[in-house]
Amino acid sequence: MAYDKSIAAFEEAYKVIPGGVDSPVRAFNGVEGTPPFIQKGEGGYLFDIDGNRYIDFVQSWGPLIFGHADADIQNAVMEAVKNGLSFGAPTLVETELATEITTLFDTIDKVRFVSSGTEAVMSAIRLARGFTGRDNILKFTGCYHGHSDSLLVQAGSGLATFGAPSSPGVPADLTKHTLLATYNDIEEVKQCFADAKGDIACVIIEPIAGNMGLVPATEDFLQELRAICDAHGTLLIFDEVMSGFRASLKGAQGITTVKPDMVTLGKVIGAGMPVGAFGARAEIMAHLSPEGPVYQAGTLSGNPVAMAAGLASLKKLKANPSIYVELGNKAKRLMDGFQKAANAAEIPMVTDVRGSMFGFFFSEIPVRNFTDAQQNDTSMFAKFHKGMLDRGVYLACSSFEAGFISTATTNEMIDEAIKAAYETLKELT
Ligand code: PLP
Repeated sequence: MAYDKSIAAFEEAYKVIPGGVDSPVRAFNGVEGTPPFIQKGEGGYLFDIDGNRYIDFVQSWGPLIFGHADADIQNAVMEAVKNGLSFGAPTLVETELATEITTLFDTIDKVRFVSSGTEAVMSAIRLARGFTGRDNILKFTGCYHGHSDSLLVQAGSGLATFGAPSSPGVPADLTKHTLLATYNDIEEVKQCFADAKGDIACVIIEPIAGNMGLVPATEDFLQELRAICDAHGTLLIFDEVMSGFRASLKGAQGITTVKPDMVTLGKVIGAGMPVGAFGARAEIMAHLSPEGPVYQAGTLSGNPVAMAAGLASLKKLKANPSIYVELGNKAKRLMDGFQKAANAAEIPMVTDVRGSMFGFFFSEIPVRNFTDAQQNDTSMFAKFHKGMLDRGVYLACSSFEAGFISTATTNEMIDEAIKAAYETLKELT
């Protein structure tokens, strides 16, 4: 494949945008080559400015569960645009989307919309601290909760790819209240609670982690976490910015029996528009401004165009919940195919699937936490990524990211991707 126009575009972008990108992982730092510049998306495909076509397993990092340029979502956006882009005043569509979410999640009585997952989590943490009157929070190594200061500690995803455990510019004073434990390791959680004498406002977790590759929490672990939080009056926050409406219609909460106190959402609820949300039972949400004292705000929060896109997406999902069976089967078909291709090439690989999310590691060991994930063969991944890209398959450009299937991803596309995996892995032996 020729990438000449993209290479030139990247050079131009580099002159005026740091690293040439507006979000670090897009720069292809962990893999070979430079990023294709995208011209358009159509269903399950992406097209770059050189005219190359890719089967897209990134789907804008998760939001596009119906694929690119879905007609229903686009029509909803067009209709909303006709009335204006933003009012900074209440609109009916916000209540409609909030009602859809609160009806679906029995853990959410009230929800507030923001413009990104980062904002959702940052606000949820503030609310948890305000509600409990405590400062300390506990997060898990390898879980990513956006780039707000107190959460930029041992995050996965882009930071894992870049090998930066945290970031300059984040004062130690701001992270000293962030306690860390190993994912799926309840003994470490107990130790943290003992060290902090139970004085922890909240535990935040990706119940299905997608930012150290796909690594689900075990049911036992989540249950024990729930019990520890209950014993200490600590709030349990499920960060479902990625897993919400992805792992199932109810996200991870459709899979585990464990109920969180607070939930953060993003990605699919905006269907490609900038939307995040956080919600909880009414008693907690009552602490939020203007009802309560915990301040939180946003000029574009609940933006009517973004709400219209999210509402159209959620309505489609609710109208056809069997979508998730279909998506899950496709994700499994892809991962089974990759596994067989790796076996044929005698290259160690482990795979996993949760609903429309999938993940694979070039690893000999099962991956339960970030330490395991970091042992995956990242140089093998880099070569695999390039081989797949050259064969028209667009995978996340880091081995610490989950992949996504959309309803526009056909079995034919999956089989084409599997064929590409066989060819690529054969070349790498
Ligand atoms: N939380 C999780 C679990 C995420 O996966 C992400 C982004 O990937 C975020 C929070 C941050 O969301 P955003 O990138 O919209 O700020």
